[in-house]
Order: sequence, then structure tokens, then C-alpha cells
Amino acid sequence: MTCMNLPDWNHLADRALNGERLDRQESLAVLNAPDDVLLDQLAAVYRLRRHYWGNRVRLHFLLNAQSGLCPEDCHYCSQSKISTAKIEKYPLLAKQEILSAADRAAKLQAGTFCLVTSGRSPSETTLDRVIDAVREIKANYDLKICACLGLLNAEQAQRLARAGVDRVNHNLNTAENHHDRICTTHTFGDRVETVENVKAAGLTTCCGGILGMGESPDDIVDLAYSLRELEVTSVPLNFLIPIPGTPMSDKGDLTPRQCLRILCLFRYLLPDREIRIAGGREVHLRSLQPLGLYAANSIFIGDYLTTKGQAALQDFQIIRDAGFEIENPGGNGAIHAENWTEAGSGILS
Ligand code: SF4
Repeated sequence: MTCMNLPDWNHLADRALNGERLDRQESLAVLNAPDDVLLDQLAAVYRLRRHYWGNRVRLHFLLNAQSGLCPEDCHYCSQSKISTAKIEKYPLLAKQEILSAADRAAKLQAGTFCLVTSGRSPSETTLDRVIDAVREIKANYDLKICACLGLLNAEQAQRLARAGVDRVNHNLNTAENHHDRICTTHTFGDRVETVENVKAAGLTTCCGGILGMGESPDDIVDLAYSLRELEVTSVPLNFLIPIPGTPMSDKGDLTPRQCLRILCLFRYLLPDREIRIAGGREVHLRSLQPLGLYAANSIFIGDYLTTKGQAALQDFQIIRDAGFEIENPGGNGAIHAENWTEAGSGILS
């Protein structure tokens, strides 16, 4: 600790590089640090980000392939059975619509196409139709596919793996302690079990959380520790968008600086993992979005599940202006700047 009783942020980064996990007191110090050391924290975690990911930003594109009509009661979600939010509700999209979205993802230079359906877990018919669409996308595009279909048993995960799905998203969402306050229709343990089934099927895992749901700093640390223990591959961090009509419409009181400290903590605790600034980026980080890239190495381009994202051209500008590069879909280099311009012709609004 320094004379101000704050840790030496660079020393913490050195230890994270050596594989050490920050202890609880150090983790809380990251979250509770005063605003005037924020740039020091970002500079320190940027060393980790640069070590593992260089200056590349990985783009993901999300399709809400089935919206609303969900029997679960996740309090943050506009698609739940207890939500009265005015959202579009529709059953699984036709294959052609899913393929059109994959085409848009490819044109936007996204490396990963995230196919999301609402619901507790997929029916046989839904799984069959998703698998059919996945096979066709894989045959036509150089895209990784991440499926987010709710709770999965071992057999469902294996079927997705055989179909060519690369990754499955299933978030822990929050700390085990806090989970009962955000959902009562399934448990934290159910979520962990799905992640274990996905890993056992040989798929990579996309698993993160939602911040701003009334959790304590200790809960945030617990969530990060759980994700580290589960050895997840990719960590989407959502900042709650308090949607009117959901029980959490009065939550989500985050400042851009708090969001940045949370991103710093996750980079310290998951130094070599893909950390993505997910939903709520525009709403909560606002003008500080570029600073988030010093901790995170990935973003969603385009819209979120039931809320709009900013124009892709704006994201491209942020990345370029801050001196970062877009990672190519293969994940092994950057896209040449002229190709960004090409992607900008007509499809970036
Ligand atoms: S998060 Fe998923 S499971 Fe929960 S209510 Fe929303 S769509 Fe249903």
C-alpha cells in the first residue's frame, strides 16, 4: 500500500501477470478508489490488456433471434414473464432472416455472430432450427458462432458442438449471494451447471455479468472470482439499462468512472481473458467509452437484445481515434484501415 493507503496499481498488474489473484482487500480497493487515480488504474491494467491482446478490439454482433415470451422472471430483463416493457415479441426468426443478420455481421467485420433466443432453455424444435441455421452460416461466412439459448443440458451442448457452434454464452450475471434478488425461477447453481456442460462438450464459454443491479462491491468481487474459478474464455460485462416495466427500472445508478473501475477489476482478475464491454456501454460510459478500451478488448457492434446501440461508424471512430485496431475475424491480426472505410459504405448507420 502507498502512503494514501492505496495499492500500487502497477505492482498489482505485475502480480496479475505472474498469475497471482488479487485478494479481496486489493480487489475492493480497485473498486473503491478515488476518481483522481482512475487514469493510473487504467494505465496499469492497460499493461495487461496490451500484453495479451495488443491494441486489437474484437467485434461481436448480436441477433435477438427470438424475443420476449419468456417464462422466467429475471428482474433485469425486458423479455421476462413479469416485464411489462413495450418490446417487440416474436418466435424464432426464419432461417433467411438469421442468415441476413449473419451477412450484416460479416460486412461489419465482426469476428463473432451471437445468436440469442429468449426462454429458459431451447425446445427440440428450436434447437433443430438453430442448428440448421448454424450449419448454413458456417458454410458461407468466416464467422465464429456464439449461441445463447438459455440453460443447456449436456446433450444439448454436445449437439451444438457437433453442429459447428464455437461458443456458448451463459452469464452468471451476479454473485451467488445476490442471485436470489435478481431471479427466482432458476438458481446460480443452474447457471454454473450449464457453463460446465458447455465446457464438457468442448465448446468455449462466454460468461459474464450485469453490473448496477443493487449488488455490493463484495458481490462484484465474488462474481469476478467465480468467473476466474470457472476458467471462462470470454467475459461480457453489461451495465444495467433500467428498462421501464421491469422490476429494476429504478436501478442502474452507475457513473462512467465506476464502470471503468469495474472494468479495471475484471482485467486484474481475468488478465488474459477476452473482456467485452457489453450492454449499457453507450448509456453508462457515455463520453468515456474510449477509456474502456484500455481495460477491455472487445465490444458489441450494432444493437443489443431489446435496446439500440450507437451507429457502428461511431464505434469505428472511437476505436481509430484512441489508437486501437479492429481485430480481423480470424483473430490473428488487425483489419487494414482501408477495409474499415469499405465497411463504412452504406451499412454503418
Ligand atoms: S434473461 Fe433470458 S431467461 Fe431471463 S427472462 Fe430474459 S430471456 Fe428469459
